[in-house]
Amino acid sequence: TSASRPAAARTRTTCGYCGVGCSLEVATHDGEVTAVLPARDGPVNRGHACVKGRFAHGYLTSPERLTRPLLRRDGSLVTVGWDEALDHVARGLRAAMEAGGPDAVAAISSARATNEENYLVQKFMRVAIGTNSVDNCSRLCHSPSAAGLAASFGLPGGTDTFDDVERADCLLVVGANPVEAHPVIGARLLQRVLHGARLVVADPRSVGLAVHADVHLRPRPGTNVALFHGLAHIMLTEGMADEEFLRARATGLKELTDLLADYPPDRVAGITGVPAADLVAAARLYGRAEHPAIIYGLGVTEHLHGTDGVRSLANLAILRGAVGTDRGFGVSPLRGQNNVQGASDMGALPDVLPGYGKVTDPAVRARAEEVWGAPVPERPGLRIPQMFAAARAGALRALWVIGEDVCATDPDTNRVARALDACPLVVCNELFLSETARHADVVLPVASWLEKDGTFVNFDRRFQRVRPAVAPPGEARTDFDTVRSLATVMGVDLGCPTPADALAECGRLAPVFAGLSHDRLDREGAVPWPCPDPDRPGEAKLYTERFATPDGRAHLAAAPYLPPGEQPDDDYPLVLVTGRRWAHYNSGSMTRRGGNLALDPVDFLDLHPDDATRYGVRDGAQVTVESRYGRASLTARTSEQTVPGQVFCSFHFPASGVNRLTSDQADTVTSCPEYKVTAVRVAAL
Ligand code: SF4
Repeated sequence: TSASRPAAARTRTTCGYCGVGCSLEVATHDGEVTAVLPARDGPVNRGHACVKGRFAHGYLTSPERLTRPLLRRDGSLVTVGWDEALDHVARGLRAAMEAGGPDAVAAISSARATNEENYLVQKFMRVAIGTNSVDNCSRLCHSPSAAGLAASFGLPGGTDTFDDVERADCLLVVGANPVEAHPVIGARLLQRVLHGARLVVADPRSVGLAVHADVHLRPRPGTNVALFHGLAHIMLTEGMADEEFLRARATGLKELTDLLADYPPDRVAGITGVPAADLVAAARLYGRAEHPAIIYGLGVTEHLHGTDGVRSLANLAILRGAVGTDRGFGVSPLRGQNNVQGASDMGALPDVLPGYGKVTDPAVRARAEEVWGAPVPERPGLRIPQMFAAARAGALRALWVIGEDVCATDPDTNRVARALDACPLVVCNELFLSETARHADVVLPVASWLEKDGTFVNFDRRFQRVRPAVAPPGEARTDFDTVRSLATVMGVDLGCPTPADALAECGRLAPVFAGLSHDRLDREGAVPWPCPDPDRPGEAKLYTERFATPDGRAHLAAAPYLPPGEQPDDDYPLVLVTGRRWAHYNSGSMTRRGGNLALDPVDFLDLHPDDATRYGVRDGAQVTVESRYGRASLTARTSEQTVPGQVFCSFHFPASGVNRLTSDQADTVTSCPEYKVTAVRVAAL
């Protein structure tokens, strides 16, 4: 009867799709989500939300949800109970360690999981297994941001709160399409433009914001470093640099000035394809603005020299004195996934512990050992691409993949699949039987972001609460419970009985998080880190007194432009760029299972009408796309968003095989894949 039904409820939580971190009110009835509404007082979204956060929740009740563990027997995955699945995993991990030591085991944690889950995964790997081979999928997107921003400014995150960016009088938006990928930010940036801010967009494609730009720079993919050096050259030669700031707070000017002599506008125009006059116009808009801000995305990071790109972009803010001062609003990376920042903050990385202390630093390890009561391995572990290489070579004998469909989203997926098949034990935490799960030996059914408790960190470093609106289906468990259960089976007490306990323990280990707690976040809503003190606010704007580098100064970088790893040639004459579209999210496993599929039902290959004519491709026809690594099948769509010689598609439809095309070229500093440049050819079927 209606009287026995649970009352309709509302749960406040944080969106689990992109890194904007919108606050949502989730309405439920009878244990099912009936509506997702944007919270009017959400600190980032202020009453707005996009088509993903609002409507893409149908996957929760999809009949394809995994509800019981699966175990491979005689080549097939069969349903088993949790005890049997966890026993099998524990035995497999022990066998791997006996055969190859702790470093024969690795885990890929998830930028989709909560902070507390990431904290527990890395603790499990370090304490229960004894290896630092734990990484997360920020390796594939924003690892160059972490490395580049830390080298330039000291901390591996954005320099300013978006609230400040919104007061900027000039926005330089680089390699990002926020109107589609981060729609709430896209809308807020547009509002700022409508209120008079000047806008420079740098992106090869005519992305949504470009229509409103004062200057749209369209560099050839892979030439960002030259582009940024060209802008810096003009700023220096035309007297737009803040000499007082540079003298007092920066270092590296001499080396950069020497390098920039080689990047006059005409030469940069030749490298990038951007007209010299546009370079000058853009440099003057940014360099003469009173309060400029830089916002960037994966078009900066996913390159062979992605870290150099981040650092060269950061140079512009340093030259202008627009970081750590009242003048400008620094450099803000738009994070693709909900918890890219947090997964790394929590130490799910092979070279750092929670709070970014290096594992090679004895003092950092000693602090962790005191909190954990267990030794911490000293040698840095494997990065994700190294894990796959080690598996193919027989050195990695067990891999735990948590919430990532690596066979769909990593580059050159044919090689990834071969790596998983070569690994004696592959364990996968998943919502659905993903491409990766099909290669696993054990598949553990897990809860989604609407079914779990914890926190995320959004793109401008705000910790926000995540709360369960509904229960996970069947026997699915949270990743948090999965890690704890496995540790128990292996005879290891990880402590941290609740997510709140995990965040509290993390704060004891990493002082930058010491002032955070679930109770505080419940009271205050959102708190940015660094936050060392429970009685003081977190630091929304960084570096107002000193940079967090060892010498306290911002570091200009003098990295020369080097060409991308992939080059078009006669056989592969087009450059493929991949990215996101409005209605879908990443591998599409959630957004394709619900109403959003009707909004964007197939994956298109966008190509310029001139190229369509040249290669005999009709609008709407099925085409084969081939690279040096593999082949994909897509639907052609002629579009003047792309320039001749370039094609674009998303990675939301793994069945089309897009990441069979992408190469294993990767950022030379962080191993972030060069997703933004793949040489391909297109042929009508
Ligand atoms: Fe907000 Fe991003 Fe979620 Fe859309 S996907 S509601 S922009 S957090």
